[in-house]
Amino acid sequence: MQDVLVIGAGLAGLTAARVLTRAGRRVRVLESGAEVGGRVRSRQLEGFTLDAGFQVLFTAYPAVRRQLNLEALDLVPIPPAAVVRRGARADVLGDPIRDPASLVSSVTTRVLPLPDKLRVAKLAAQLRTPPIHALLNGPDESTQDYLRRHGFSEAALDRFFRPFFGGVFLRRDLSTSARLFRYYFRMLMDGQIAVPRAGMGQIPAQLAQGVDVTLGVRVTRLTAHPDMVSVATTAGDLEARNVIVATDPNTAQTLLGGNIARGSLGSAYLHYAAPHPIDPQPRLLLNAEAGWINNAHWISQAVPGRAPEGQHLLIATVLGRQEVGDDELDAQVRAELVVWYGEADARTLRTLHIERIEHAQYPQSAGYAAHLSGHATALPGVLLASELTSMSGIQGAMESGEKAAAIVLGDLAAMSRPRGS
Ligand SMILES: Cc1cc2nc3c(=O)[nH]c(=O)nc-3n(C[C@H](O)[C@H](O)[C@H](O)COP(=O)(O)OP(=O)(O)OC[C@H]3O[C@@H](n4cnc5c(N)ncnc54)[C@H](O)[C@@H]3O)c2cc1C
Repeated sequence: MQDVLVIGAGLAGLTAARVLTRAGRRVRVLESGAEVGGRVRSRQLEGFTLDAGFQVLFTAYPAVRRQLNLEALDLVPIPPAAVVRRGARADVLGDPIRDPASLVSSVTTRVLPLPDKLRVAKLAAQLRTPPIHALLNGPDESTQDYLRRHGFSEAALDRFFRPFFGGVFLRRDLSTSARLFRYYFRMLMDGQIAVPRAGMGQIPAQLAQGVDVTLGVRVTRLTAHPDMVSVATTAGDLEARNVIVATDPNTAQTLLGGNIARGSLGSAYLHYAAPHPIDPQPRLLLNAEAGWINNAHWISQAVPGRAPEGQHLLIATVLGRQEVGDDELDAQVRAELVVWYGEADARTLRTLHIERIEHAQYPQSAGYAAHLSGHATALPGVLLASELTSMSGIQGAMESGEKAAAIVLGDLAAMSRPRGS
């Protein structure tokens, strides 16, 4: 009998399994898919490296710093500035968060009014010093209300905050909790935004090293007994002293019962191949106009190896729109790219792949933290490791895995670590 069976080889499950394996427990991970990583994966297509959607790593995430060897990931930083697109017009915005001074001193950038630049600098000064976990506490409100209360103009909201944080929280309406906004703002100040050179899939691949993972096995039912848990799977029944459920939230709800899932934010990612460099820009492209594209990135300009020699790779992010068919989605995104780059250049783009992700994150509106799940479940011996216990993202998934493992190990120091730290 295993000491621990972990269900799901996403970042939460792999982190839990890694901590437990390193502590000498007999651990096995059961994963229904054909590879590890869950929502964080990469694959090869015609010589291009495509991530599952557009995802980046915030190197300041505390759980990332504890669990990953960042050097071995061969991280490539995404340049700390963005390009604000307003139709055919493109303005480079100095990094408003990590280097507020660049905005104040920039004479070329008129995309943000000067008073907003000064407000960014003031906000950065305020958020730079508190302990990071403290930014997740205190009164909550929407990010939009928070920014307006701090005096930001509607132009600043539309040109920077909506598309940038829309890309982070997968909602452009800035309805996400201001606590999370403050936390991510601080993450941007404390570290880099980066991607592993060989793809985001390198992150779960590193976590899985030395961990016993069985792929292609789906868990269908859990039954708790006084001294062990039996686990029904598509490959037969198994037993363990403890089970950690580290699936996506909807499956966790099916396996554990109760009402723990918090809904889903879906998004779509259009990967385009280009035979010549239409845009030399390695920075994030933010669409200041309400349309189909929220943000886009010529990832091969930042990480040349992501495209074959002489080719280029653009990824465009569309939030929501799950009801729209691929052809329509492609046509609408291409129409916007025509405005950005002109008909002749946009026509050279070849649609490589359209990726639909139904559950990319769960919505985290103001007050969301009141509904977070605990790690304990109604089934004795069964623990939950999921973004549902913390925040929807890489930090939330990994810290949840660490905590579930700490509970099994009775590691009080790790169990009592504040959320987000
Ligand atoms: C497009 C996109 C963009 C994102 N952007 C960011 C970002 O910029 N920053 C950030 O921090 N986060 C981002 N996230 C969120 C982040 O990727 C996730 O929060 C995190 O990866 C969740 O990890 P997890 O282990 O909790 O769940 P998952 O990754 O969902 O892993 C769950 C695993 O369980 C397996 N499983 C499910 N059911 C069963 C079963 N019955 N039996 C066995 N196995 C099962 C699944 O196959 C899967 O491998 C983004 C996500 C997406 C998709």
